[in-house]
Amino acid sequence: MKTLSQWVCHNTYRQLPSTFGTPLLPQPLDAPFLVHVNPHVCQLLELDPQQAHTPYFIDLFSGNADHPAFDPIAMKYTGHQFGQYNPDLGDGRGVLLGEVLTESGAKWDIHLKGSGLTPYSRQGDGRAVLRSSIREYLASAAMTGLGIPTTQALAIIGSETPVYRETEERGATLIRVAESHLRFGHFEYLFYTQQHDTLRQLADYLITQHFPHINERTHSHPDGDNSARYALMFEEIVTRTATMIAQWQAVGFAHGVMNTDNMSVLGLTFDYGPYGFLDDYDPTFICNHSDYSGRYAFYQQPSIGLWNLSALGYALTPLLEKDAIDHALTQYETVLQRAYSRIMRNKLGLELALEEDTALFAGLFSLLKAQRVDYTLFFRTLSGIPAHQIQTSADQFAFLMDNLSPLQSWLLEYAARVEKEWAANGNTSQHNSALSQSDSQRLSRMQKANPKFILRNYLAQQAIEKAEQGDYHMLDDLLAVLAHPYDEHPSLSHLATLPPAWGKTLAISCSS
Ligand code: AMP
Ligand code: MG
Ligand code: MG
Repeated sequence: MKTLSQWVCHNTYRQLPSTFGTPLLPQPLDAPFLVHVNPHVCQLLELDPQQAHTPYFIDLFSGNADHPAFDPIAMKYTGHQFGQYNPDLGDGRGVLLGEVLTESGAKWDIHLKGSGLTPYSRQGDGRAVLRSSIREYLASAAMTGLGIPTTQALAIIGSETPVYRETEERGATLIRVAESHLRFGHFEYLFYTQQHDTLRQLADYLITQHFPHINERTHSHPDGDNSARYALMFEEIVTRTATMIAQWQAVGFAHGVMNTDNMSVLGLTFDYGPYGFLDDYDPTFICNHSDYSGRYAFYQQPSIGLWNLSALGYALTPLLEKDAIDHALTQYETVLQRAYSRIMRNKLGLELALEEDTALFAGLFSLLKAQRVDYTLFFRTLSGIPAHQIQTSADQFAFLMDNLSPLQSWLLEYAARVEKEWAANGNTSQHNSALSQSDSQRLSRMQKANPKFILRNYLAQQAIEKAEQGDYHMLDDLLAVLAHPYDEHPSLSHLATLPPAWGKTLAISCSS
């Protein structure tokens, strides 16, 4: 474990041509203090968690001190926002401080969000408020605990600096950590400004830094045909994006602002704003109250993912033939469907993939939707029911829905389907002990696929309200359960109940 001053950096992004951004220092916040630190992220960075309590840490991440190994830069990118190209984007309220090297050979971007004005701030003030920093902090921890690729958040620093949103709030910073902060919008920027040589340089940079397996298969020829390399690069981005979105859909995560400047080329869930985890199962769920057309509704995410990849593909036309771009894009749906089916079968405790499963899933989704059943608790409850009780288990779901009869019929189908798994494994009902052993394995697999804890909007809201009063206990508790959401945590079970009625109708403003 290291101290902050022992950090070593290799600031590779900073070595790219000046068109990639603007070097500048964070602007200081007044009277900074530590709000919270995530010990798991300290571990990734090989940083002693006690460091977060030192004045140097707080000063460094509030713009009041420098680090000799950092070389901060605001990144330039553009992107499509709600389908419209915007050339004026970039890090408007954050800087990439540096890229920290660990002993284990990893390299992590350290990005400070809320660090003040930059040349890309447009009408904004360059700041982030405590509320939105906590939302990003918690979501990063939640997605990590769920095993979904995401950026991470090391810590939140609070301050006395007033920041004006709908009301006066306080400025804060979030220390965001990721393998890379490269977005689809980085490529779009170089394409639309016709910097095609630099676009090629960015592609080579991405491959060298993050997709070394492509370097091993192909070599870069300075003046030759490198299209095979770039085709593999784009396929990698397509595959990662499809896999990430399959995971979002299976867990019930709505990103809210899937603009191409918020899409990571590493397939990380990126830039948490007005996101939401589903309470009731409702595919039309729109978590962003500024999304009037429902472009980023929950059920739209898979097709928006493809739209965004097509926008990226278009920006790669100087490097790739149209056929190669189309070929990569055609893989998207297959990869997403395959990943999604695999996760959903796990959630139902099914190992075999049978033709009839499509109907089984459709039946389930239609009943969950019709009665607006709590998505997380439905699956968690199902993962506690032994095979021989499935047919008679409807009552156990009474706390989730009023009319149990559609569920009753579905459970009969489900029980029959589970029975087929045994039959395929050579078990018959006569072999009861073998059956119960494999059934307990089935249940334990299901419990690892169906989280008990999810970052419900109202929980985030309660944690924010307490933190605004200086009470961080709820952040401790949420971090504990979100890091291991599949475990029982009996003393924290109150964080795994149905949301109160007010909690389901909270409006999340997009201001942050
Ligand atoms: P977002 O919708 O959060 O992804 O932000 C879109 C763009 O607006 C990015 O270029 C951000 O850096 C910029 N931005 C968001 N909030 C602010 C702010 N308070 N001050 C300056 N720029 C901002
Ligand atoms: Mg953004
Ligand atoms: Mg309900």
